[in-house]
Parts: sequence; structure tokens; C-alpha cells
Amino acid sequence: MSARSPLVVAAVLAGALALSGSASAPTRVGVAAQLEALNAIRAQLGLEPLRRNLVADRLVAEIAARDLEDIPPATLDSQPDCAVCSVVFRNGAGVDPRKLYSRRGGKSKIGFGLWRQGWSATTNLSVFFPTAAMALDPRARTFSAAPTPRGMLVVAITVDPRAVFGRPVRWPRGEIDPRRQLWVELVLPPGTRGHPRLLERRSSRSVVVAHPLADTVGVAGARLVAFGLSSVLAYGHRYSVRVGSVSTEVATRPAPVSFLRRSWTFVSLASAERQAFLGLFRSGPALLRRLAREFDGAVDVVGGPRACSVADACERVDADRATIGLRRFESFVVLHEVGHAIFDLGLDEPGRRLFLAAFVRAGWKGECCTPSSEIFADQLAFWALGRVPPGVDSYSETMLLSRGRFTELLRQNAAYRPLSAVGPLER
Ligand SMILES: [Zn+2]
Repeated sequence: MSARSPLVVAAVLAGALALSGSASAPTRVGVAAQLEALNAIRAQLGLEPLRRNLVADRLVAEIAARDLEDIPPATLDSQPDCAVCSVVFRNGAGVDPRKLYSRRGGKSKIGFGLWRQGWSATTNLSVFFPTAAMALDPRARTFSAAPTPRGMLVVAITVDPRAVFGRPVRWPRGEIDPRRQLWVELVLPPGTRGHPRLLERRSSRSVVVAHPLADTVGVAGARLVAFGLSSVLAYGHRYSVRVGSVSTEVATRPAPVSFLRRSWTFVSLASAERQAFLGLFRSGPALLRRLAREFDGAVDVVGGPRACSVADACERVDADRATIGLRRFESFVVLHEVGHAIFDLGLDEPGRRLFLAAFVRAGWKGECCTPSSEIFADQLAFWALGRVPPGVDSYSETMLLSRGRFTELLRQNAAYRPLSAVGPLER
């Protein structure tokens, strides 16, 4: 589980999504335009449009005018909490704004939340999860919003608790882009219990690949769970989101063609060394070639005396790009470093654990003292070569898994997994 609270992660989301918009200063999007955009999204989801609500409009304007506490997220962990959504102060006494609404004759259940002025409805839905839980509820009926003096919008949404809400609502629709920080939000009907998980089928087992970023309540028993960012997803894979008995299939988009077209970046590497490097893939297993095609565009291969500071060969990863340094050109050494790159760029945590468990079951006893990346790199090199080269200086001396078993595990678990974009927040 991520140690970060949902609100912190929501703030991180705010950063990337704001940046993904226009590069110029944000324009103020009026409340009418926000409602129109939200209704367009609801229409795509087959949900009925929200209307204005005079009682709520007036109430939300009063509340928003006094909200001096909530400020637009400035840093990645300063997501505002909504100081006025469950209590407002009048003449020194705290009052629940939901009670004020019904006292003034308002109908159905109401909830309050925050949006950011100047952000599109899409960005707001991607960031402010408690508000999204109301805005994407099929039973929602009206929308009101008013600007605060410090750049936020207080939003009020009413929900008809007697309306039908049988199936979960998924937004956004379509294929997930693993580079985006928000992958998917699901608004769940009242009474949906259980821990939300994003699962992938690997061989005969379902592996948990992500826990939710947010799990928050809406109005009248609704619940929203969101996934993204806290894990990494591969391109072109199928997953399912499960919460109790609810299960929804999701798929990631194929790897971008422009990314697949790129190949290794060679730096200070003589032509003979390049040929030797590429030759290892030509003569290696077909699966190694297939994986290399996927992630070679994210790897620099550096030769010469400046390749590594102390060792003969090394590998390091910076975000979702790896550098392999090679001062010595020996097949095992090169493939060991390629193994590190696959470990870093191509295996997620469940995949690393599955390999480690298989090595331990096969009798490996170095778990105490050897990093799992080193045993993986060794075993990948042995697998690629089809043998343990005589006199090799490494962390292990035998092939722990048969070539077939290693191929099977690698096929099920390895794929290039891009990091999602993280950036500072736009003001
Ligand atoms: Zn190593």
C-alpha cells in the first residue's frame, strides 16, 4: 500500500493534469460553462444532465464568498480539504450547510465539494475526488457552483436517493494511458463493500498490480474509487478493477508507434562493440528480442573509460530511462546489465516478487544478502546465453530455473512500464 493519503495523491494529480492543459495562464471558466462541460461528460456516460437549482445556487454563493481558507493547490501535498463543505460559521456558531439547504426548502440530498476556478471540468473531475463522487452519480440532479475569493469553486450537487443506481459508472471511458496519473475512476452503487484492487491475470493467478489512489464517499451511499500513479502499468495489457462482487475490465492503450520506432542510444561505443551488443540479441531467445524492441528506446548504452566510475560494467535508472555502462565487453557482463535494465524498466513489484519466489523455491539461499536485482540480472544472462559460462564471476553459479520456466515467467511479467508524468502545479 502507498503510504500517501488519498488527498496527497490527489494533489499530485493536480500537477500533471494542470500541466497537460494549455501552456498559457488558465482562463476563468464560468459556472455555466462548467455545467455544460460536465453535462457533456455525463451524456457520454449515459447519465441524465444536471440542472440549475435556485436554492442551492444562493446558498453556495453565500458559503463560497466566506471561504478564505481553501486555496488552489500550490505544492504537491497541499490539496485543499474544503473548509466550508460540512460546517459553516454564522454568528459564531457552526452549522451544517446541508441542514441550511433543507431549512430553506431544498429538495433531495445535497453534498458540497471543491473545484478549481479556471480548470476544465475534466481536470476538476480528475483531481477533486469527493466532488467527482457526486458529479458522476447517476442519481445526481442539480449542480450549483460559486467562486471563492481565493480561486476555488464551491460546488453543490443534489442527488435523488430514490433514483436507480444499479451499475458502477466508469470515467474516463476507453483505453487507459499508463502515462497519465489518473487511470480510471469508478463510482459505485450504495452498499458496494470490499477493498478495491486493480488486478492482472498472469498464468493461473490474479496478481494485484495497484491499490486505489482514492476511496471516498459520495452522497446517499455512493462511493468513488480511483486508480493511477501509485503503481505502473504496461502498454497493451488487460486488467480488471474489483471491489467486492463488482468487477470491471479495463485495457491500456498500445505503446505509441513513435516510442516503438526508437532504438538503443549508443554513446562512445566503437562500431565493433555495437555489433557485438546487437549480436547478443540476434543470437538470444526470441522473447529477449521482443522485449528489447519494446524498451530499447528507453536505454542509453555508454562505452569508454567514463562508462562507469568503478566497476567494469554498471546500470542505473533515472525515471523511466536506463543507462548501461560497459567498459568490458563480455557476453555475460553485457547481458547481466541488460538484465538490470529489464528489472528496472520492465518488471513491476508483483513481477519481481514472483521471480524471487521462483528462485527461492529452486533452492537459492542468497535472499538475505544479495539484492533481488542482482540475482535476476545473473539468471537473465544465463537464460539468454542458455548456459552458465565457465569461470564467470557472479552472484550465482547455476541456472535456477529451466529455460522454459524462465521464458514463461518473463513473458507473463515483463513489459515496458512508463512512469506517469509528475510536475509542479500551475498557478
Ligand atoms: Zn549487477
